[in-house]
Amino acid sequence: SVELRDIHVRFGTLEVLRGVNLKVPSGSTTCVIGPSGSGKSTLLRCVNRLQEPDSGDLLLDGESVIASDPDALRQRVGMVFQHFNLFGHRSVLDNIVLPLRSVRGMSKEDAAEVARARLAEVGLADKAPYRPAALSGGQQQRVAIARALAMEPEVMLFDEATSALDPELVKGVLDLMAGLASRGLTLIVVTHEMGFARSVADEVAFMDAGRIVEQGTPEQVFEAPASPRLQQFLSQVL
Ligand code: ATP
Ligand code: MG
Repeated sequence: SVELRDIHVRFGTLEVLRGVNLKVPSGSTTCVIGPSGSGKSTLLRCVNRLQEPDSGDLLLDGESVIASDPDALRQRVGMVFQHFNLFGHRSVLDNIVLPLRSVRGMSKEDAAEVARARLAEVGLADKAPYRPAALSGGQQQRVAIARALAMEPEVMLFDEATSALDPELVKGVLDLMAGLASRGLTLIVVTHEMGFARSVADEVAFMDAGRIVEQGTPEQVFEAPASPRLQQFLSQVL
Protein backbone atom coordinates (compact mmCIF):
# COMPACT_ATOMS: atom_id res chain seq x y z
CA SER A 1 0.00 0.00 0.00
CA VAL A 2 0.91 3.66 -0.36
CA GLU A 3 -0.09 6.00 2.42
CA LEU A 4 0.22 9.76 2.76
CA ARG A 5 -0.38 11.12 6.25
CA ASP A 6 -1.08 14.79 6.84
CA ILE A 7 1.27 15.97 4.09
CA HIS A 8 1.96 19.70 3.95
CA VAL A 9 3.91 21.47 1.20
CA ARG A 10 4.59 25.20 1.14
CA PHE A 11 6.20 27.31 -1.58
CA GLY A 12 7.07 30.53 0.21
CA THR A 13 3.85 31.78 1.71
CA LEU A 14 1.69 29.60 -0.54
CA GLU A 15 0.59 26.36 1.10
CA VAL A 16 -0.19 24.06 -1.84
CA LEU A 17 -0.79 20.86 0.12
CA ARG A 18 -2.69 21.55 3.32
CA GLY A 19 -2.83 18.23 5.11
CA VAL A 20 -3.30 15.48 2.54
CA ASN A 21 -4.28 12.02 3.74
CA LEU A 22 -4.53 9.22 1.20
CA LYS A 23 -4.27 5.44 1.40
CA VAL A 24 -4.01 3.33 -1.75
CA PRO A 25 -4.15 -0.41 -1.03
CA SER A 26 -1.71 -2.65 -2.90
CA GLY A 27 -2.99 -3.72 -6.29
CA SER A 28 -5.62 -1.00 -6.46
CA THR A 29 -5.95 2.12 -8.58
CA THR A 30 -6.78 5.57 -7.27
CA CYS A 31 -7.51 8.37 -9.72
CA VAL A 32 -6.91 11.92 -8.53
CA ILE A 33 -9.09 14.58 -10.14
CA GLY A 34 -9.51 18.28 -9.47
CA PRO A 35 -9.08 21.77 -10.87
CA SER A 36 -5.82 23.21 -12.16
CA GLY A 37 -3.55 24.36 -9.36
CA SER A 38 -5.27 22.25 -6.70
CA GLY A 39 -2.04 20.37 -5.94
CA LYS A 40 -2.41 17.09 -7.86
CA SER A 41 1.08 17.07 -9.37
CA THR A 42 2.63 18.18 -6.10
CA LEU A 43 0.88 15.32 -4.30
CA LEU A 44 2.13 12.81 -6.87
CA ARG A 45 5.67 14.17 -6.66
CA CYS A 46 5.61 13.69 -2.90
CA VAL A 47 5.00 9.96 -3.39
CA ASN A 48 8.41 9.44 -5.01
CA ARG A 49 9.92 12.41 -3.17
CA LEU A 50 10.67 14.52 -6.20
CA GLN A 51 9.02 16.96 -3.81
CA GLU A 52 9.97 16.75 -0.15
CA PRO A 53 7.02 17.69 2.06
CA ASP A 54 7.44 20.24 4.85
CA SER A 55 5.68 17.87 7.20
CA GLY A 56 3.76 14.61 7.18
CA ASP A 57 4.63 10.99 6.58
CA LEU A 58 4.84 8.68 3.56
CA LEU A 59 4.48 4.93 4.03
CA LEU A 60 5.05 2.04 1.63
CA ASP A 61 3.57 -1.24 2.81
CA GLY A 62 3.17 0.25 6.26
CA GLU A 63 6.75 1.38 6.59
CA SER A 64 7.77 5.03 6.68
CA VAL A 65 9.98 5.97 3.73
CA ILE A 66 9.91 9.73 4.31
CA ALA A 67 13.54 9.74 5.43
CA SER A 68 14.82 6.77 3.42
CA ASP A 69 17.18 6.86 0.43
CA PRO A 70 15.15 8.60 -2.33
CA ASP A 71 16.86 6.61 -5.09
CA ALA A 72 15.87 3.34 -3.44
CA LEU A 73 12.32 4.66 -3.11
CA ARG A 74 12.23 5.62 -6.80
CA GLN A 75 13.07 2.05 -7.79
CA ARG A 76 9.87 0.98 -6.05
CA VAL A 77 7.77 3.90 -7.30
CA GLY A 78 7.86 4.63 -11.03
CA MET A 79 6.50 7.82 -12.56
CA VAL A 80 5.21 8.74 -16.00
CA PHE A 81 4.86 12.40 -16.95
CA GLN A 82 2.73 14.37 -19.37
CA HIS A 83 5.71 15.18 -21.59
CA PHE A 84 7.35 11.72 -21.62
CA ASN A 85 10.81 13.01 -20.53
CA LEU A 86 12.66 10.67 -22.90
CA PHE A 87 16.30 11.26 -23.85
CA GLY A 88 15.91 12.74 -27.34
CA HIS A 89 19.41 12.00 -28.56
CA ARG A 90 19.28 8.30 -27.62
CA SER A 91 17.55 5.36 -29.25
CA VAL A 92 14.30 4.04 -27.85
CA LEU A 93 16.18 0.95 -26.65
CA ASP A 94 18.85 3.03 -24.91
CA ASN A 95 16.16 5.07 -23.17
CA ILE A 96 15.28 1.89 -21.28
CA VAL A 97 18.76 0.34 -21.15
CA LEU A 98 20.60 3.34 -19.65
CA PRO A 99 18.57 3.67 -16.44
CA LEU A 100 18.66 -0.10 -15.95
CA ARG A 101 22.44 0.05 -16.13
CA SER A 102 22.91 3.12 -13.95
CA VAL A 103 20.18 2.48 -11.38
CA ARG A 104 20.07 -1.30 -11.34
CA GLY A 105 23.69 -1.90 -12.25
CA MET A 106 22.73 -4.40 -14.94
CA SER A 107 25.09 -5.56 -17.68
CA LYS A 108 24.55 -4.19 -21.17
CA GLU A 109 23.28 -7.57 -22.40
CA ASP A 110 20.87 -8.15 -19.52
CA ALA A 111 19.55 -4.59 -19.73
CA ALA A 112 18.97 -4.93 -23.48
CA GLU A 113 17.08 -8.17 -22.94
CA VAL A 114 14.79 -6.59 -20.34
CA ALA A 115 14.33 -3.50 -22.51
CA ARG A 116 13.33 -5.55 -25.55
CA ALA A 117 10.86 -7.58 -23.52
CA ARG A 118 9.25 -4.43 -22.09
CA LEU A 119 9.08 -2.79 -25.52
CA ALA A 120 7.37 -5.89 -26.88
CA GLU A 121 4.83 -5.66 -24.04
CA VAL A 122 3.81 -2.17 -25.07
CA GLY A 123 3.71 -3.18 -28.74
CA LEU A 124 6.85 -1.35 -29.85
CA ALA A 125 9.44 -4.09 -30.38
CA ASP A 126 10.14 -2.81 -33.89
CA LYS A 127 10.90 0.74 -32.66
CA ALA A 128 13.98 -0.17 -30.60
CA PRO A 129 16.62 1.44 -32.89
CA TYR A 130 14.78 4.71 -33.55
CA ARG A 131 15.13 8.08 -31.84
CA PRO A 132 12.02 9.07 -29.85
CA ALA A 133 11.27 11.92 -32.31
CA ALA A 134 10.58 9.29 -35.00
CA LEU A 135 7.66 7.98 -32.95
CA SER A 136 4.15 9.35 -32.45
CA GLY A 137 3.34 10.98 -29.11
CA GLY A 138 1.35 7.93 -28.08
CA GLN A 139 4.25 5.63 -28.95
CA GLN A 140 6.67 7.86 -27.04
CA GLN A 141 4.43 7.70 -24.00
CA ARG A 142 4.32 3.89 -24.28
CA VAL A 143 8.15 3.91 -24.34
CA ALA A 144 8.12 6.03 -21.16
CA ILE A 145 5.78 3.50 -19.56
CA ALA A 146 8.00 0.60 -20.71
CA ARG A 147 10.99 2.39 -19.20
CA ALA A 148 9.24 2.80 -15.85
CA LEU A 149 8.04 -0.83 -15.91
CA ALA A 150 11.55 -2.10 -16.61
CA MET A 151 12.47 -1.12 -13.04
CA GLU A 152 9.78 -3.52 -11.79
CA PRO A 153 8.14 -0.92 -9.57
CA GLU A 154 5.47 -1.80 -7.03
CA VAL A 155 3.73 1.51 -7.59
CA MET A 156 3.26 3.58 -10.74
CA LEU A 157 2.38 7.26 -10.75
CA PHE A 158 0.84 8.85 -13.84
CA ASP A 159 0.63 12.63 -14.11
CA GLU A 160 -1.75 13.49 -16.94
CA ALA A 161 -0.04 10.91 -19.11
CA THR A 162 -2.43 11.45 -22.01
CA SER A 163 -2.95 15.23 -21.82
CA ALA A 164 -0.31 16.05 -24.43
CA LEU A 165 -1.52 13.45 -26.93
CA ASP A 166 -3.61 13.88 -30.03
CA PRO A 167 -7.11 12.56 -29.37
CA GLU A 168 -6.70 9.49 -31.56
CA LEU A 169 -3.61 8.40 -29.61
CA VAL A 170 -5.15 8.66 -26.14
CA LYS A 171 -6.97 5.34 -26.15
CA GLY A 172 -3.86 3.21 -26.76
CA VAL A 173 -2.14 4.68 -23.71
CA LEU A 174 -5.25 4.46 -21.51
CA ASP A 175 -5.72 0.82 -22.55
CA LEU A 176 -2.12 0.10 -21.56
CA MET A 177 -2.67 1.77 -18.17
CA ALA A 178 -5.89 -0.19 -17.64
CA GLY A 179 -3.92 -3.36 -18.37
CA LEU A 180 -1.42 -2.46 -15.65
CA ALA A 181 -4.26 -1.86 -13.21
CA SER A 182 -5.76 -5.27 -13.94
CA ARG A 183 -2.32 -6.88 -13.53
CA GLY A 184 -2.16 -5.92 -9.89
CA LEU A 185 0.20 -2.97 -9.91
CA THR A 186 -0.67 -0.17 -7.50
CA LEU A 187 -1.51 2.92 -9.52
CA ILE A 188 -2.06 6.56 -8.64
CA VAL A 189 -3.35 8.34 -11.72
CA VAL A 190 -3.84 12.09 -12.04
CA THR A 191 -6.15 12.45 -15.01
CA HIS A 192 -8.72 14.56 -16.78
CA GLU A 193 -10.07 11.40 -18.44
CA MET A 194 -13.25 10.92 -16.44
CA GLY A 195 -14.20 7.85 -18.51
CA PHE A 196 -10.97 6.18 -17.44
CA ALA A 197 -11.50 7.15 -13.79
CA ARG A 198 -15.04 5.80 -13.92
CA SER A 199 -14.17 2.47 -15.49
CA VAL A 200 -10.71 1.67 -14.09
CA ALA A 201 -10.36 3.34 -10.67
CA ASP A 202 -11.16 1.53 -7.46
CA GLU A 203 -11.25 4.92 -5.74
CA VAL A 204 -11.45 8.48 -6.98
CA ALA A 205 -10.03 11.35 -4.90
CA PHE A 206 -11.15 14.91 -5.63
CA MET A 207 -8.62 17.62 -4.75
CA ASP A 208 -9.33 21.27 -4.27
CA ALA A 209 -7.07 23.98 -2.87
CA GLY A 210 -4.48 21.58 -1.46
CA ARG A 211 -6.82 19.10 0.18
CA ILE A 212 -8.63 15.92 -0.75
CA VAL A 213 -12.15 17.20 -0.39
CA GLU A 214 -13.96 14.02 -1.24
CA GLN A 215 -13.01 10.41 -1.94
CA GLY A 216 -14.96 7.30 -2.79
CA THR A 217 -15.76 4.72 -5.41
CA PRO A 218 -16.35 6.04 -8.94
CA GLU A 219 -20.07 5.47 -8.39
CA GLN A 220 -20.08 7.60 -5.23
CA VAL A 221 -17.96 10.37 -6.66
CA PHE A 222 -19.58 10.64 -10.08
CA GLU A 223 -23.19 9.67 -9.33
CA ALA A 224 -23.58 11.12 -5.83
CA PRO A 225 -21.03 13.88 -5.23
CA ALA A 226 -21.56 15.29 -1.75
CA SER A 227 -19.65 18.58 -1.75
CA PRO A 228 -20.82 21.60 -3.77
CA ARG A 229 -17.24 22.07 -4.98
CA LEU A 230 -17.14 18.59 -6.53
CA GLN A 231 -20.63 19.01 -7.97
CA GLN A 232 -19.50 22.22 -9.61
CA PHE A 233 -16.26 20.63 -10.91
CA LEU A 234 -18.13 17.69 -12.43
CA SER A 235 -20.67 19.96 -14.09
CA GLN A 236 -17.75 21.62 -15.89
CA VAL A 237 -15.86 18.50 -16.98
CA LEU A 238 -18.59 15.92 -17.71
P1 ATP B 1 -2.65 21.25 -13.12
O1 ATP B 1 -4.00 20.55 -13.22
O2 ATP B 1 -2.68 22.55 -13.80
O3 ATP B 1 -1.50 20.38 -13.51
P2 ATP B 1 -2.06 20.70 -10.30
O4 ATP B 1 -3.31 20.35 -9.56
O5 ATP B 1 -1.18 19.61 -10.74
O6 ATP B 1 -2.49 21.63 -11.53
P3 ATP B 1 0.28 21.69 -8.94
O7 ATP B 1 1.18 21.64 -10.11
O8 ATP B 1 0.47 20.66 -7.88
O9 ATP B 1 -1.26 21.74 -9.37
O10 ATP B 1 0.45 23.14 -8.30
C1 ATP B 1 -0.24 23.54 -7.11
C2 ATP B 1 0.12 24.97 -6.79
O11 ATP B 1 1.49 25.03 -6.42
C3 ATP B 1 -0.03 25.94 -7.95
O12 ATP B 1 -0.51 27.15 -7.43
C4 ATP B 1 1.38 26.09 -8.48
O13 ATP B 1 1.56 27.34 -9.07
C5 ATP B 1 2.20 25.95 -7.22
N1 ATP B 1 3.54 25.38 -7.43
C6 ATP B 1 3.81 24.16 -7.93
N2 ATP B 1 5.14 23.92 -7.97
C7 ATP B 1 5.72 25.04 -7.51
C8 ATP B 1 7.09 25.44 -7.29
N3 ATP B 1 8.11 24.62 -7.57
N4 ATP B 1 7.31 26.69 -6.78
C9 ATP B 1 6.29 27.52 -6.48
N5 ATP B 1 4.98 27.20 -6.65
C10 ATP B 1 4.70 26.00 -7.15
MG1 MG C 1 -0.43 19.00 -12.59
